[in-house]
Amino acid sequence: FVRWPLRGSLKRKVNWVQLAGHKGSFKSAEEGTILKKLSENEKQCFEKLQEDPLLPFVPQYHGVVESDGQGFLHLNDLLVYFDQPSVMDCKMGVRTYLEEELVRARERPRPREDLYKKMVEVDKEGPTAEEHCQGAVTKPRYMQWRETLSSTHTLGYRIEGIKKSDGTCRTDFKKTRSQQDIIKIFQDFVGGSTDILKLYLSRLAEIQQALSKSHFFKQHEVIGSSLLFLHDASGKAQVWMIDFGKTTALAEGQLLHNVPWQEGNREDGYLWGLQNLIQTVEATIES
Ligand code: ATP
Ligand code: MG
Ligand code: MG
Repeated sequence: FVRWPLRGSLKRKVNWVQLAGHKGSFKSAEEGTILKKLSENEKQCFEKLQEDPLLPFVPQYHGVVESDGQGFLHLNDLLVYFDQPSVMDCKMGVRTYLEEELVRARERPRPREDLYKKMVEVDKEGPTAEEHCQGAVTKPRYMQWRETLSSTHTLGYRIEGIKKSDGTCRTDFKKTRSQQDIIKIFQDFVGGSTDILKLYLSRLAEIQQALSKSHFFKQHEVIGSSLLFLHDASGKAQVWMIDFGKTTALAEGQLLHNVPWQEGNREDGYLWGLQNLIQTVEATIES
């Protein structure tokens, strides 16, 4: 562990935006870098990625540091390459929980009123007649239901959050499911700029190409990972792969990333989702 003095200019603190995760899991660090709360799993991913074709598409990793008695991953801040960037987090894959989380949720499948309430708040028609009667749903049921609301199931990716250069921020995309709605959101995100969309498209194609060569990708189930889209008024646009907190090592060949998930096969749908995302960006250009 190296101790890291926390600095970071006011300008950067003002511009920093976090579109997902718990508020306490990030800290600013020396100019151009951030600290993300350490998970052993994500650390191992960053270490393996240092030797992989995906390296140019993940934030630069500077190792683990300690701050206030806690461990953090020290990463480049992707925002600093931009002036007042617009940022979008797209969470990839056909599911965003691990199979083991589902198994654990099933161990004590007691009906829960709190989850029933959460379900009804989002969709009165969500619960079955029996669940309505009980006024409760079980956790595994809730987890699986939640993912059918967004495009996670139907397209293999979903929008988590967007911050535009004008400062407006939205994370209320939990029920955004149709490609038509996503096209409208992308169009608004880029302010109608076809040039930005084309840059995004070529960067996504580069990522797709790198994934086809990546040993890391062949050997990992990639759950809950995002593509972070960034552009600004200068016309620069980039896409980065972030968040490997739930990316889990598997034997090579155990999953293909583009066949349907059935519990037990560990498929994440990442490549299928990426293909759909590319197709949606193409459709946005044509719209
Ligand atoms: P969750 O698992 O809920 O998605 P998390 O705690 O694993 O959250 P991340 O998804 O890695 O956190 O990051 C959360 C947000 O922080 C991202 O959506 C993005 O807005 C921002 N962020 C993460 N890493 C970086 C980075 N290297 N540079 C700039 N912004 C980042
Ligand atoms: Mg995330
Ligand atoms: Mg995460």
